[in-house]
Amino acid sequence: MRTGVVEGPGSTDRFRAAGTVGRVTTAAPTREDVAAVVDLALLTALDPAISAAAIRDALIVLASRPAPAPPTVEPLVVLAHARAEVWRQLRARGIHPDSAPDVRVDAEALSSLTPAERTTLYLMTRRALPAHDVGFILDVSTREARRLHRRAQVALVRAVTGLALAMDLTPCLIRDELAARGAGMLSRRDIDALTMHAAECRICVEWLRRADHQALAGYDSMAAPTDREIDVVLANLQQLGEEERLRVVARAGALRRDGRPPRESLLLGDPKRWMRRGISLGVTSVVLVVVGVLAMAR
Ligand SMILES: [Zn+2]
Repeated sequence: MRTGVVEGPGSTDRFRAAGTVGRVTTAAPTREDVAAVVDLALLTALDPAISAAAIRDALIVLASRPAPAPPTVEPLVVLAHARAEVWRQLRARGIHPDSAPDVRVDAEALSSLTPAERTTLYLMTRRALPAHDVGFILDVSTREARRLHRRAQVALVRAVTGLALAMDLTPCLIRDELAARGAGMLSRRDIDALTMHAAECRICVEWLRRADHQALAGYDSMAAPTDREIDVVLANLQQLGEEERLRVVARAGALRRDGRPPRESLLLGDPKRWMRRGISLGVTSVVLVVVGVLAMAR
């Protein structure tokens, strides 16, 4: 055996990532973990470059832990790191977990959801995890996880309806007018307006009925990461320099006792959202407005 490399039982099916040469790394993610991280990242970020960066950083941080979490919690900790890194990458590009992007009329319905909605949909619909586990991964209460899931399902059905109607599929003048508003782009508000119209319109209602059936069926049929994709991720990780690994680990900060990433600061949220919330709650939440102003000034 070469110097310092310890081959433990079962080590062949483990991915030995960050800086394992010369020391024992017991928390290296398994191939199954890597598949989960890739799947979550792709379906939450919906962008190959953002996903790749998040996958890399999540796997580096996971592999740098002194030991994995207990077996019942470990898969959730893995998903929590994947979630945190995807949200971090999106934030770095000005996309906050609660911001609903404007989308082109020919976009995938899923892309009009907020990152938080997409993550919840992934965890609860695709992975069928209970709300309690999803709350653990998202760092929110069980109740908030359930609320986010309901909101995500509604948003997806509305997006399928709104985008279909925006594509000029029904001979309806009101639909024409609503679809023309965004000049090829649709905001969440435009999508909601088209859906509301569909619910009341004899001509357009058919698309709302179809969307109800199609939205989640389409989501479920998306392919899982292939062996080849996972191999590419693993090969890229092996090529990283030690300096880069140390930088990622340092940036991630001290993990919590249960292995999850550090709690996210209020100021990391969408500043505009805190402004809106502060304003809508009125005088009692002057503090939230101040927090929003400070965050926007950063
Ligand atoms: Zn209509």
